[in-house]
Amino acid sequence: MENRPETNIQLKDILEMAPIAVAWSDITSDRIDYINKSFSTLFGYSLKDLPDLNTWYDHAFPDPYYYQQVIEPWIRHNQENVPVEGLSTRMFCKDGSVKKVRISFSIVADKRLWYFNDITDYWIAEKRLRARSEMLEMVAKSSALTNILDVIVKQIQYESPLSLCSVLLFDQASQCLFLGAAPDFPDFYNKAVDGIKIDLNVGSCGTAAYLKTRVIVEDIFSHRYWQDYTALARKAGLAACWSDPIMSSKGELLGTFAIYKRIPSSPTQKELELINFASNLASIAIESFRAQEELERRAYFDHLTGLANRGHFFEQCENTLSKARTEKTSLAVLMMDVDHFKGVNDAYGHKTGDLVLQKLAEMSLSTLRKDDIIARIGGEEFAVLLPATDQDEAIRVAQRLRARIEEGGVLSIDGHKISFTVSLGVSYCKHDDCSTVNELLNAADDALYQAKAAGRNCVFSQ
Ligand code: GH3
Ligand code: MG
Ligand code: MG
Repeated sequence: MENRPETNIQLKDILEMAPIAVAWSDITSDRIDYINKSFSTLFGYSLKDLPDLNTWYDHAFPDPYYYQQVIEPWIRHNQENVPVEGLSTRMFCKDGSVKKVRISFSIVADKRLWYFNDITDYWIAEKRLRARSEMLEMVAKSSALTNILDVIVKQIQYESPLSLCSVLLFDQASQCLFLGAAPDFPDFYNKAVDGIKIDLNVGSCGTAAYLKTRVIVEDIFSHRYWQDYTALARKAGLAACWSDPIMSSKGELLGTFAIYKRIPSSPTQKELELINFASNLASIAIESFRAQEELERRAYFDHLTGLANRGHFFEQCENTLSKARTEKTSLAVLMMDVDHFKGVNDAYGHKTGDLVLQKLAEMSLSTLRKDDIIARIGGEEFAVLLPATDQDEAIRVAQRLRARIEEGGVLSIDGHKISFTVSLGVSYCKHDDCSTVNELLNAADDALYQAKAAGRNCVFSQ
């Protein structure tokens, strides 16, 4: 008995230098008597923070359901069964971060000796690998971009539990950021951010996108990048925001990935790695989604004018025609052809001819109604589908188009003002005599032929 304190001192001396975390507690009182240096390094606690096992459990396993379902049965089971089986579990540290550890314990006299193997790095590597392959599989299956980005955001939030993450998508034309994935932000916050224009001092994301560089704001309330958004951040309970621009493999801006914290903080080395990991993954997802979009665009739209192509026009006509039959509405088709277009090419060159076609598309779009569908179905031939339109209305639309195009014009490559005109043929069908798309187009083509024969720059109807 007299030798015991001395034995304890020696054991502590040995354990103090041990590379794995060790603690021991008193079996009867559950008082924690000792934690070694590795324990404090791993979890951040001192012995004063953890007077007994219950206090420690409360800190380490804050989810009571998880404690009751997993931890408590394991401890009970192991008290009855020797040798003790280890348990792999997540444990919260003093600073709120999470470690994945393998816990085991053994009972020595009236003490319970606890051992903790830190397996966080393996666990993270494995989880990340899984998230990465899950995301790549979704990319391969062309899943919705939001779902793919959600997987990335969830993975980062899992690895860094006191973080909120978001992905914003950059739109080149408007220079604005739009919501990509921010599943755990309040609606009012997402609404306020959606469509925000990138610039200096537009929070961390707007600024990171504008500067194309990582922006670390440790304290939102004292940083000039956030001076116009402090009320919004306060309402959403956000205090720090670290944002990374997401760049494509060609160096173009695709969006931003951000980690937010609820208390002012700067990123650890691990968190910086997390941001890298997330923006790389997001870049793959966004880039392949955009490539897919581009493929579809090319398959359906004309590259010169951006209008629907012939195939897409036929597809849309079929749909509108069957809807017209069901809803018993009429519809009309216009065929439009540029007059003496060959002459434009011959006089000003093919490039100027292209400008004429582009300008014609632009003028037509601004003249037509939202539901009308215009397509470039041949070199300088255009077709327009007018849903829910009768013959008189269709002729009026055709005249409007003709007049608008006659008024317009374009500057040639060498600066000459060029005017041009179009001829149009109109065909239409009532719901009870609706023919096929081909018949409608042929009828409009016949009317167009008459317009050409009548001298051009005019409208004929079937
Ligand atoms: P019309 O009034 O009878 O329609 O006379 P036109 O000269 O417009 O008719 P034609 O069919 O003889 O000529 C059409 C021209 O359109 C011939 C072709 O070189 C030109 N064209 C077709 N596609 C393109 C294109 O994408 N760009 C340019 N610049 N020209 C094109
Ligand atoms: Mg022509
Ligand atoms: Mg033609």
